[in-house]
Amino acid sequence: MDIPRIFSITESAHRIHDPFTPEKLATLGSALRMKKDTRILDLGSGSGEMLCTWARDHAIVGTGVDLCQSFIEQARLRAKELGVADRVQFIHADAAGYVSDHKVDVATCLGATWIGGGVAGTIELLTRSLRSGGIILIGEPYWRQLPPTQDAAKACLAGAISDFLPLPGLLASFSSLGCDVVEMVLADQDSWDRYEAAKWLTMRRWLEDNPHDEFAKEVRAKLTSEPQRHAAYTREYLGWGAFALMKR
Ligand code: SAH
Repeated sequence: MDIPRIFSITESAHRIHDPFTPEKLATLGSALRMKKDTRILDLGSGSGEMLCTWARDHAIVGTGVDLCQSFIEQARLRAKELGVADRVQFIHADAAGYVSDHKVDVATCLGATWIGGGVAGTIELLTRSLRSGGIILIGEPYWRQLPPTQDAAKACLAGAISDFLPLPGLLASFSSLGCDVVEMVLADQDSWDRYEAAKWLTMRRWLEDNPHDEFAKEVRAKLTSEPQRHAAYTREYLGWGAFALMKR
């Protein structure tokens, strides 16, 4: 049980598997005004950087669930490194349908809303673990600029233009699902570079260490094409943000 290997190769050196920098993640943590012992559930928790740093900075307690074994191991190491292993735990499991035993104050899914079959389904799934009056935190792409063609949308690694909305439309969609948008922190082009460009050096080093691996051809092709693709498409057209929602 794991995610496709290409992701655990290209993102093996990432602590944050989304277009946020450590500074933006910290801004988000402060923006939520969490009290000590705030309980958080994080579906698709990646390498656990959000829960670990927020445990250090805000004394939250949290559970992360992720399908990628190597990310879960990195998360457990990071918790030890930051001295918060008693406050956070990481579970290697499919988060689809995952509901926590105890209700949480903040239920999140950043950059993995396919877990609930899209934004609406993920809000519904997170709500099942959330105490009344709690905060749902969703990390989701939006169009900074509408791509001119379907091909341009695909080059942003979307399936089609209709996969994402412009920012006002995304905010309106949260509203139409019965949620107040109570906070947001947005990625920017430089923070997108931290997510995308960091993969290039990882790929280059991986290729040097694994020249005969069955994935070497795929990784080589990606390393050759990704910088231009990112500069021409993702960097221009795609936005990303973390949105804090409360049910009306
Ligand atoms: N929230 C993290 C990771 C985002 S990347 C961060 O922002 O850093 C998407 C994550 O979803 C990856 O860690 C991947 O392993 C995880 N994932 C994908 N499908 C999943 C599933 N069905 N259940 C749990 N995790 C899943």
